[in-house]
Amino acid sequence: MSSLRQKACLAAMGVDIWVRRAREPDSMTPPRAPRTSVAREQEPVSAATPVPTQPLLDWETLATRVADCRACELHEGRTQTVFGTGSRSAEWLVIGEAPGAEEDKRGEPFVGRAGQLLTSMLGAAGLPRPQVYIANILKCRPPSNRDPKPEEVTSCEPYLFNQIALLKPRIILAVGRIAAQNLLKTQTPIGKLRGQRHAFGPEEIPVVVTYHPAYLLRSPGEKRRAWEDLLFARQVYESLPAR
Ligand code: SF4
Repeated sequence: MSSLRQKACLAAMGVDIWVRRAREPDSMTPPRAPRTSVAREQEPVSAATPVPTQPLLDWETLATRVADCRACELHEGRTQTVFGTGSRSAEWLVIGEAPGAEEDKRGEPFVGRAGQLLTSMLGAAGLPRPQVYIANILKCRPPSNRDPKPEEVTSCEPYLFNQIALLKPRIILAVGRIAAQNLLKTQTPIGKLRGQRHAFGPEEIPVVVTYHPAYLLRSPGEKRRAWEDLLFARQVYESLPAR
C-alpha cells in the first residue's frame, strides 16, 4: 500500500499519528507496529475455544438456512437477516456484534458510519474491504441495538462457526466487546483482551481483538489504540507459517 493511500485512510479514520520511520522496500510491505506493549504478546494466550460439532453446510445451503431462520425471537423484528459479506477465499475474517438499523435495511454488515470507519481502518492496514470476509455474531438486529441475549448467541453462533469452518481464515479480527467475549467465551474486559494473540477452535486460528468502530465514533480518542491493534494483527498475520 502506498504511503499516500495509507495516509489518506488514516486521515479518514481520524488518526493523525502515522510517522513512517524508514522507507519500505516495496508497496506490499506491511506497516510496522509502533513500539507499544500491544505488539509484544505474540504467543497465544487463550486456550482454543471448543466449537460445537455439527454437520457442515455449504455456503448456499447455509445462507438459505440463515435467511429462513426463526430460532430466536429476533426474527420477529428483522427486515432481513445479515449473513456476511466479502471474499469466500479471504484469509482475514472480521467479526462484529450484530446488525444495526442500516445493516438490517441493507442486508450487509458494517454499513453506515461505523461501517465506513471500519472500511477506512482496514484500508489503512492494507486490507481492502473486498479482500476480507465480514460477519457478525448475530444475523438479526436486536431491538434498539441492545446487547445480544445469551440464548440468542447460543441459537445463532452455529451459523458463524459454520462460516468459519468453510472460510478457514488465517486470522480473525474481533471488533468490539460483544464479538470478542462471545468468540473467546470469556467475560474479560475488552481492554485486557486487546494486544494479545488469542486462539479460536481446534485449528487455533489466531484472534486479535480491537474496539468496535461505533465505539470509536463515540470515543475518537481511542482511534489510536484501534490503529495499534490493526498493526498488531498485521504482525501476527505476517508471523504465520506459509500454508
Ligand atoms: S439472530 Fe440468528 S438464531 Fe436468531 S432468528 Fe436471526 S438468524 Fe436465527
